[in-house]
Parts: sequence; structure tokens; C-alpha cells
Amino acid sequence: MPNVYRLKECPTCGVEHRRRGPYCGRSCANKSRTLTDDTKRKIADGNRKHMASDSPSAEKSKWIITQQRAGHGKTEETLEREMESAVFLLYSLRKKLLPKGPKL
Ligand SMILES: [Zn+2]
Repeated sequence: MPNVYRLKECPTCGVEHRRRGPYCGRSCANKSRTLTDDTKRKIADGNRKHMASDSPSAEKSKWIITQQRAGHGKTEETLEREMESAVFLLYSLRKKLLPKGPKL
């Protein structure tokens, strides 16, 4: 059959799948490598640096974390949709204009 990957067994969980690459999914692929403390530190430093920047993707991540901590019970999917809406734009704008103001 064209455009279909051959049937193979995931080396982590043993499930049969036709996805791209050896693993059945991201979580199994992640389990296959063990990170050294040094590597973990490098990843954490990179993440910290990114989150301290004011790039749009960092703003989105901060928005998601803030909303999840607020416990509004929204799924990440809902939050993703809201980010594309006026709610997120207003939130970002307010944060820029009133960085020390009360939380929404
Ligand atoms: Zn698997």
C-alpha cells in the first residue's frame, strides 16, 4: 500500500503500529533515552532563558501556566483556542501596560 509505513513493534511498549519512526508515540520515544543531570540542567537553563524572554511563544506558555494555576478547569485545548482570541491579546497588552497590576 502506498503512503503507509510498514507495521513495526514499538521498542518501548511492544505495541504494533504504522507510525513514522520506531516508536508508537512521543511518550515512548522520550522513555528510550536517559538524561544525565548535566543534560537536564542544560534543558532547564534553556527553558528558563526562553520563558524570561518576551517572545510570543513564551508569552503563550506563561498564559497557559497562569490559567492552569488559577484552576479554572479549562483544558489546554480550550486555552490554546482562547490564546488566538481577544482575551489573550488583552491579557498581553494589560501585562505590558500594567506589569505590577492585579491579576485578571
Ligand atoms: Zn510504545
